[in-house]
Amino acid sequence: MTDPNPLYGDACEACPTCDVLPESAVRDGVEGIVAGYRCPNCGHVWTCGWQIVPGRAIPPEPAVDSPIFNRQVTAQVHEQAAIARARKHLSKGQPPPAA
Ligand SMILES: [Zn+2]
Repeated sequence: MTDPNPLYGDACEACPTCDVLPESAVRDGVEGIVAGYRCPNCGHVWTCGWQIVPGRAIPPEPAVDSPIFNRQVTAQVHEQAAIARARKHLSKGQPPPAA
């Protein structure tokens, strides 16, 4: 079976560009990632949460000094990850398990 989206590509919502690949991502627990994107055409930045698909390459962690992945996007990614974790805990209706 061929994975139609092996690199967690996403579409820009600010222009018609499809298949923008994540610049980096942070892990969200054991089964998820939050990926950060920057559109190569219009410069729009956004993040997207994904459930990890076995066999797909996980995008690299954002580097603090990366000239591509700026601090603003890195902060957004971490914020998204925190929100996703909070939602997950709320949906389970119980506190997170001790790590
Ligand atoms: Zn765009």
